[in-house]
Amino acid sequence: MTDKPKLFGTNGIRGIPGKDYTLEFIIEISQAIGTFFKKGPILVGYDGRNSSPTLAKAVVSGLLSVGLDVYEAGLVPTPALQFAVRTLNYNGGVMVTASHNPPQYNGVKVMGADGVEVSRQQETQIENIYYTRRFKEADWKTVGEAYSETKAIQTYIQGISKQIDADAIKRRSFKIVVDTGNGAQGVAAPYLLEELGCKVISLNGQVDGDFPGRGAEPTPETLKDLGEAVKATGADLGVGYDGDGDRSVFCDEKGVVHWGDRTGALLTDHILSKNPGGKVVTTVSTSSVIDYVAEKHGSKVLRTKVGSVDVSRAMIEKKAVFGLEENGGCCYAPHISTRDGAMTTALMLSFLAKQRRPLSKLLTSLPSYYQRKEKVECPPDKVRTAMKTLESKATGRVERTDGLKIWSGKKSWILIRPSGTEPVIRVFGEAESKAELAKLFDKYLPVLKKVC
Ligand code: MG
Repeated sequence: MTDKPKLFGTNGIRGIPGKDYTLEFIIEISQAIGTFFKKGPILVGYDGRNSSPTLAKAVVSGLLSVGLDVYEAGLVPTPALQFAVRTLNYNGGVMVTASHNPPQYNGVKVMGADGVEVSRQQETQIENIYYTRRFKEADWKTVGEAYSETKAIQTYIQGISKQIDADAIKRRSFKIVVDTGNGAQGVAAPYLLEELGCKVISLNGQVDGDFPGRGAEPTPETLKDLGEAVKATGADLGVGYDGDGDRSVFCDEKGVVHWGDRTGALLTDHILSKNPGGKVVTTVSTSSVIDYVAEKHGSKVLRTKVGSVDVSRAMIEKKAVFGLEENGGCCYAPHISTRDGAMTTALMLSFLAKQRRPLSKLLTSLPSYYQRKEKVECPPDKVRTAMKTLESKATGRVERTDGLKIWSGKKSWILIRPSGTEPVIRVFGEAESKAELAKLFDKYLPVLKKVC
């Protein structure tokens, strides 16, 4: 099937409905998904996007038409659907979502019986079924039946509560500002936090497919209001989620919003203190601060390609306890090896409950590295030459897990990686000193710009 375009991107099938794909396509890809699963029941859920209920109906139709029974969970965060698939014994799940993308986008994610996104190989199998139209056939007697699943959110909240010392958190009566960004965590996270005895102040709490508050992506730039609200209310912590609630970005008590590699390093420390020697999985682009923390506990950090599916699948294969990305996606294996914004928040509270110092102080205990991000526009036909040229100029250790990661000494590196979604090559570097970082960029960036 190499001549046919790939349908699955970094994280499921995505695009603008009505422009990039038709409703018919969603029905047919769902027939392919149903044929791949062979048997039901399958759990279907959706995020708060305007097109989600319509697309979910098409998914349900496609699955029923190939003879599988379907349960509809309605509006749920992606991690709630994933946890419910595994815990309530479904044979698979389909989530209608475009995660943090702008409001006009939507798509589907496919989960196996373990609740984790299907592997890259399984995505190709589904694509092959779709392109060869080898759909399982069901006649009027064998079409599936549709039911509703009303326990997904309750099951999810209870599952998270079981993983932490809820009493220790309750004793601290934390005040927390929660910015669900009009996204799907609005139906779960605030309720979990109230159960944990927190005083919850909600921002952009109403689920709204236009994401009018601050858009669907949580970053230090989009979470400025969260920082202000934390300062104004004297809260202990702030947290912002993405549109489907699997990523969480934290804000300290001073109103400063931090990227996920630094807060993730504190969580790594917390989790490894209870699981010494446990394995941690992250991507090639995450800061070396994770390695610094893991070394303290005699643990190994395994690195994958950029993409949460790669992190989750590597966690399962290597029996890792924790997985993380710098964008705020964290996976805690004792709960489920997929990204989960609410589980991560509960872990952060669990960590803070054991500390006497506030989050801003705890973050200063980590080593600081200088980082720089660039992107260079590069037409698809020049990408190969660009990467080959860079490789020929590379001095020092080179890793090829995803693009080229070129090391200079033990702690400085530059990662040059073609984007999976745009005609650009991403360049990301980290070093212990400003001068060392500049040296890396001065050496490789002009080479790249010249070829592209
Ligand atoms: Mg997401």
